[in-house]
Amino acid sequence: MKVIAPLAGGSHVIGLTGSPGVGKSTVTGALVRGYRSTGLRVGVLAVDPTSPFSGGALLGDRVRMQDHATDDGVFIRSMASRGHLGGLAWATPQALRILDAAGFDMILIETVGVGQAEVEIAATADTTLVVVAPGMGDSIQAAKAGILEIADAFAVNKSDRPGAQEVVRDLRTMLAMARYGPDDWKPPIVSTTAGSGEGIDDLAAALGAHLDWLEKSGERAARRQARARDEITAIAVAELQRRLGGLPGEARLEDLAARVAAGDLDPYSAADALITA
Ligand code: GDP
Repeated sequence: MKVIAPLAGGSHVIGLTGSPGVGKSTVTGALVRGYRSTGLRVGVLAVDPTSPFSGGALLGDRVRMQDHATDDGVFIRSMASRGHLGGLAWATPQALRILDAAGFDMILIETVGVGQAEVEIAATADTTLVVVAPGMGDSIQAAKAGILEIADAFAVNKSDRPGAQEVVRDLRTMLAMARYGPDDWKPPIVSTTAGSGEGIDDLAAALGAHLDWLEKSGERAARRQARARDEITAIAVAELQRRLGGLPGEARLEDLAARVAAGDLDPYSAADALITA
């Protein structure tokens, strides 16, 4: 990590999130095809925060990604490691940094929409794309889940299906209620039919426009700094947790826990004992 850290920083990191079945993998595949056709190198991280199995087959490297399997301008990796020390919020930035340092122009992180993990993973991207589709009650759920706050762009996928226009309209209405300053980024809504590739060029253009805005506004540097802060904290906390569990004598965690459970010690004094040790 020491050696590669100075090499990183050149990639545009795009996080794709949304409910299962909306077409994230298909959109990812279509974007990869689009970027490759302009000669850009693309890394794909398919992150599944719900599966404890590494290499889980839920996302990304499924059949539709096999188009790209023999293309050395594309690297695809699945990560599914709920049980991992520090979790995906700890592991994802490190995988990102490696792809970034390896010179991929675009890095797509695909993650299934399941609450906090998705928000954390979205926080590791420069640009967060929320994919929705008709018939899933997504736009309403999106508002509830706080997805509107993390979205830099929306893809209304399956535009060939009935109800797609209504989803676009609902999103427009919701965004109209949000307050934007004159210099704020207003998330664009792009209609796509990922299967046929329709709308994918417009989507890539919208993502590119967001990157331009990030750079001009200084927001990119601010986001990267915030991301670095989270990463440092996650690494430090994981290390501290490891050390706290291994302290001997008076500060042995299990002994302290037994005393707190028995009512012989209060948890604040126990925590003080740990920190002092
Ligand atoms: P994910 O779970 O969000 O990654 O969704 P997938 O990419 O696996 O897509 C779920 C299903 O929707 C698959 O059967 C796709 O072929 C289909 N699908 C994806 N995009 C479109 C689209 O634009 N139109 C239609 N009709 N089906 C699509």
